[in-house]
Amino acid sequence: MKILAIDDNHDNLLTLQALLKIFMPEASLITSASAQDGIRRALMEAPDTILLDIQMPGMDGYEATRRLKGNPSTQHIPIILVTAHRTDPSGKVRGLECGADAFLSKPIDEAELVAQIRAMVRIKRSEDALRLERDSLEALVQKRTSELLLMNQVLTENLARLAENEARYSRAVRGTTDGLWDWNMVTGECYFSPRWKELLGFADDELENHADTFYSRLHPDDAAVAQEALESHLSGKTSLDVELRLRNREGGYLRFRVRGQAEWDSLGAAVRLSGALSDVTERQLMEEQLRQSQKMEAVGQLAGGVAHDFNNILTVIAGYANMLKMDLPALGNEVRLAEQIATATERAAELTKGLLAFSRKQPMAPQKLDLGEIVQRVETFLARVIGEDIQLKTHLLPDSLPVWVDMGQIEQVLINLAANARDAMENGGIFTIATGLFEADGSLSAFCGPAGSYAVIIVSDNGKGMPAEISKRIFEPFFTTKEVGKGTGLGMAIVYGIVRQHRGYITVDSKPGDGTVFSIYLPLAADGAEMYQEPAVDQELELGTETILVAEDDPSVRNLVEMVLTKHGYQVILAENGQEVVERFTAHSSDIGLILMDIIMPRKNGIEAFAEIKKLQPEAKVLFTSGYTSDFIQSRGMEDGVELIMKPVQPAQLLRKVREVLER
Ligand code: ADP
Ligand code: MG
Repeated sequence: MKILAIDDNHDNLLTLQALLKIFMPEASLITSASAQDGIRRALMEAPDTILLDIQMPGMDGYEATRRLKGNPSTQHIPIILVTAHRTDPSGKVRGLECGADAFLSKPIDEAELVAQIRAMVRIKRSEDALRLERDSLEALVQKRTSELLLMNQVLTENLARLAENEARYSRAVRGTTDGLWDWNMVTGECYFSPRWKELLGFADDELENHADTFYSRLHPDDAAVAQEALESHLSGKTSLDVELRLRNREGGYLRFRVRGQAEWDSLGAAVRLSGALSDVTERQLMEEQLRQSQKMEAVGQLAGGVAHDFNNILTVIAGYANMLKMDLPALGNEVRLAEQIATATERAAELTKGLLAFSRKQPMAPQKLDLGEIVQRVETFLARVIGEDIQLKTHLLPDSLPVWVDMGQIEQVLINLAANARDAMENGGIFTIATGLFEADGSLSAFCGPAGSYAVIIVSDNGKGMPAEISKRIFEPFFTTKEVGKGTGLGMAIVYGIVRQHRGYITVDSKPGDGTVFSIYLPLAADGAEMYQEPAVDQELELGTETILVAEDDPSVRNLVEMVLTKHGYQVILAENGQEVVERFTAHSSDIGLILMDIIMPRKNGIEAFAEIKKLQPEAKVLFTSGYTSDFIQSRGMEDGVELIMKPVQPAQLLRKVREVLER
């Protein structure tokens, strides 16, 4: 125990020392002669108690007490004030006010001194212990607090990261068109995201989050598929990826791709299944359309190829039949036989034309014509097609509707439509043809062509109509619902081919029992070209004397052309391929008035051969023949303005064209 005694009287300090030596030998005494020095020593020595004299020069005991109690380092040291007079209550009050803990009065009673010191030290010790405990508690609290703060910071960071993840996730989910689902297989709880419900046409609160929501909307025919896919996935064999139909708000079925992933517990039991739902109806529709157009294209190529070769054969048959007709006496029996052959070949030519039309490789001779006029011209014929039980009505726009069309082909379209209408109205009805003007501006969703002005033909019947499954397939070649022998399934395919070749569009609108309406949109001819006028009478066939170089790889066509030309006075030089044409021309160039040449030939095509000839003789005249459409030929590098005659070539037409080019 350490005791600090502060007193200006040296004798007092000595007495105290002597007393303590006897009565408190365990105490060690530090002495100080002034208040200032005492305070300093108290700071340095940290005594267990201080004995402080009140009356001292300079700073007195009260002030020293105030200072010691005011300093955090010394405020816990008990102070015993030593007063000069035993009975001085005002001094005690003052001392207590300054913070003194106990009092002793002079002369000091040794028993009181010892008791006071012991009491003070006891108090200090227990206070110290308390303080220590409080301090360590405080330190602990502080430690805990900082630990908590740190933890809090980590948690806050985690929360921020979670929130960011959540936001990123929901942005991603919003970005996809998928609907999400989550099925707790233990509790049976089910979650369907708002998008999941939206895909079926419902708001979030309109469908229950329950497995039944899914199962009750599943197409009955797909239930087995769904079950099998689920079992196979849950047994770990496959991933869950299956296409299913679900019923939407309107009661229609949409096709969805359902993907998911299960979670299994440690015992291998499936506890959870979650995944996504995406609408594939649109994609499937587009795939179907693509397949459809590819099929049309493929069949078109086949048909076009066959028809092309067939055309050459027809050219020969028709040519010889016509020549026979010219040669035979007009009233004889044979001329009628020849006529029969000619008529039959005309029908056959119609068929090839149909095939070429469908394949869009039909030779097209577009003229600027009034659509209404075409309808009027074909009306009587259509009436024959539909028969007497069906009434034909026309509503034609009084204004002219100029279009660039091949008249024969548009007639073909109307005939095919009429034939189908007749078949759809077995017990009679009304067949209507109307014309109109249509400004495409994107507002009519059924119309998929570019903006612009169109002339429209609307062909309708009030027959039996057809469901959507059929109407979307009618343009397929060979699609027919008619019994074998009755339908070929080519009628609408040809219509489609012709309309598309005219850069037009066709739409169909039909319902079972409600009749059918076809709308055909043809681009309106905007240019100032004159409307085509049919020549009043056939001109007399003129004879010629010029030399014509004929190049054609098909021998029968070559021979026919040779015969026609020589019969009408021309000299003919023949060539079988492109190379030969160039050689023959080089040999006879000064004599040759015209080259009549097939475009598609072996060794060198007509275009290449003519290019070489032009180098030898820039003035050389050419007339090309071809079985292909002018579009197709142009894509093979033919210049505009070059004369072209389409196969099957009619002798009269050939002779007229030859004269026309020669006289230019
Ligand atoms: P086909 O007449 O030889 O069957 P099409 O290509 O002309 O071949 O027509 C295909 C199918 O389209 C028909 O079998 C029929 O089912 C349907 N169809 C075409 N036009 C009509 C119509 N006006 N009314 C009802 N069904 C039609
Ligand atoms: Mg038909």
